Amino acid sequence: MKQIQSFLTYFGFVYSLFHAAVSTASGTDLDIIGKGADTLPLFDAHMHYKSAAWYPYPPNDVVSIMDKNGVAMALVSSSPDEGTIALWKYAPNRIVPEMRPYTDYIGPMEWTKVEGIGEYIEQRVRQYPHEGIGEFHVHEVDKSDEPLMKTIVALAMKKSLPLHVHSDREPIEYLYSLDPGLTIIWAHAGMVEPADVVESMMARYPTLYADTSYRETDILAEGDGIDPKWRQVLERFSDRFMVGSDTWVNDQWMDYDELIADNRRWLAHLTKETAHKIAYQNAERLFNRKISSQLFGTR
Ligand SMILES: [Zn+2]
Repeated sequence: MKQIQSFLTYFGFVYSLFHAAVSTASGTDLDIIGKGADTLPLFDAHMHYKSAAWYPYPPNDVVSIMDKNGVAMALVSSSPDEGTIALWKYAPNRIVPEMRPYTDYIGPMEWTKVEGIGEYIEQRVRQYPHEGIGEFHVHEVDKSDEPLMKTIVALAMKKSLPLHVHSDREPIEYLYSLDPGLTIIWAHAGMVEPADVVESMMARYPTLYADTSYRETDILAEGDGIDPKWRQVLERFSDRFMVGSDTWVNDQWMDYDELIADNRRWLAHLTKETAHKIAYQNAERLFNRKISSQLFGTR
């Protein structure tokens, strides 16, 4: 009897091996990263270090929060720019600085109307090793802003810097009309634009990238799934998406663990190849960095 039992156990074991091999070989889910998403090193392509965060989250805490969440590197812009520079000085190997034209008093609504703002951006880009211009808002195409937009576009082209733009579809089309050679990171993948609009924009502009901050709930379907339209656009343009947290208020810092966990939840539904690209490889290429878990604990 004991022999029969152990034979059956053995048979069951062999059968389960066989079954696993068959379902792996024939399944279309062969390349889905699944739990592997939990250990991907991440590039956070939408981090802010605003003045309100400086006291509760000093630079060493920010880097600890990144370490704890497996975030190897971040693209940082701040209001004012001094926040970005302070963080970059503390952890130059972890922070990619970009020039945000805001201060404590100048923000999304009025920045384009401030006298001397173009010169201010040029001066900060000359002074510090900024690797992008943004994140800035363009709420609508306003012809009276055209001289400023042309100044920013010319600077971006001259220095080979991507623009990081928070807008819906039309301002992106407008900026590309000023210079089709631009590289643009579309903040929040258009924020309110649905997946099919994002897909058509990506198809139309081969140098359009996007960060997915604030789109977690759009991408994640009910339960623990992924929205099929978002999966389609993420897989089709896997070379041009990056994840992001958008720490624009301290609540986002408080929720940072949860935000990063949400991003890993949708990454888990993508193919291995796509998940690695969106997690960090696209940023490696865009910013010419090497990103890996070797960076944790360093600065
Ligand atoms: Zn932002």
